[in-house]
Amino acid sequence: MSLDDDLRPSTQRQRPRPLAPMASSIKVKWSVVIVAAVAVTALMSQIGLHLGWPVWLRPIVAGALALLAVQFLAHGLTYPLRQMADAAKTMARGDYSRRVEASNGDEVGQLAEAFNQMSAELAESDRLQKEFISNASHELRTPVAALQSTLENLVDGLAKPDRTSLELMLAQSEHLGRLVNQLLDLSRLEAGSDQPARNQIDLGDLLNELAVELRMTHPLAVVDVKAPLGLRVLGDDLRLRQVFTNIIGNALRFSPHGSPVTIVASRHNGSVRVAVRDLGPGIPVEQRAKVFERFWQSDGSAPTGGGGAGLGLAISRRIIDQHLGSIEITDNQPSGACVVVSLPRIADDANALRRQPQS
Ligand code: ADP
Repeated sequence: MSLDDDLRPSTQRQRPRPLAPMASSIKVKWSVVIVAAVAVTALMSQIGLHLGWPVWLRPIVAGALALLAVQFLAHGLTYPLRQMADAAKTMARGDYSRRVEASNGDEVGQLAEAFNQMSAELAESDRLQKEFISNASHELRTPVAALQSTLENLVDGLAKPDRTSLELMLAQSEHLGRLVNQLLDLSRLEAGSDQPARNQIDLGDLLNELAVELRMTHPLAVVDVKAPLGLRVLGDDLRLRQVFTNIIGNALRFSPHGSPVTIVASRHNGSVRVAVRDLGPGIPVEQRAKVFERFWQSDGSAPTGGGGAGLGLAISRRIIDQHLGSIEITDNQPSGACVVVSLPRIADDANALRRQPQS
């Protein structure tokens, strides 16, 4: 029987698999096969003796019948293993759709179940990877195409290399650069190759510094920070700045011009809780988990424009996960969005601080 014949769906298979449904271990099943083979051999020797068969014929007949008994009883015991070998070859060609039959109640059956679970996980991760590549290429294509068409116009003499076209190209290449950096950040964070530093950070200081920077770069922005002294966390200064810059940047982007963005940091049991509130359109409850998925953007555009590729919050969530914290969207009263970040707080006591794990 060829391997392919052997891998037909079980409904089409004619030969019975007598020991496959037994829930016992593979050792017990093989013991049954051996005992049956010995019993058949002994029985046939006795019958041959009784019937007066020549001495050379008895072992041949007994051996042949024992072999037939082994073939019958052992059939199907290694069937899932052969299926797995075949499915593994298919997987090597990039097809993760094959599943093996896991009806054996023994270790081989358990292995088949684990194999099926592994191939389902590989299929899902393959799907996510393909989706990521297609989304990333789509996002990169837009600024590249815009840059290319501006350059073509300049080369063909349809536009002059004046300040406006140069500024346009600069903006497009900056957008491209930001996108590439975000993609690199995301892939490093997802691969776990980027371990955050673990320094003592005063979160109040960090938020106040960010607010000053934002007021300088966005002179019309109203950013209020309320943070008590000494809210210290253990983490990566640059990474946490990146998270809060993104959250506050979004809040400013979605707020009506001139309306305030308020940042309130507080002690909350063993954590520091930072709430960033704005008076924009808010995020509907059913979209609150989705905004942390990569490339997710709502249909409505921000009143102040300047949207990204939907990577900022996906990156932020992974950074906050690395810091053993949490990030979520809650309601804001009377309207708008509220993004809440919680991070484990370093105890105010200096001795307790020294006991913090350093790995
Ligand atoms: P982007 O860089 O495109 O803004 P983000 O990951 O930072 O990507 O945000 C994902 C989406 O979440 C945004 O496109 C927007 O739809 C929604 N969002 C984030 N912050 C806010 C906010 N403060 N108010 C309303 N919607 C928001």
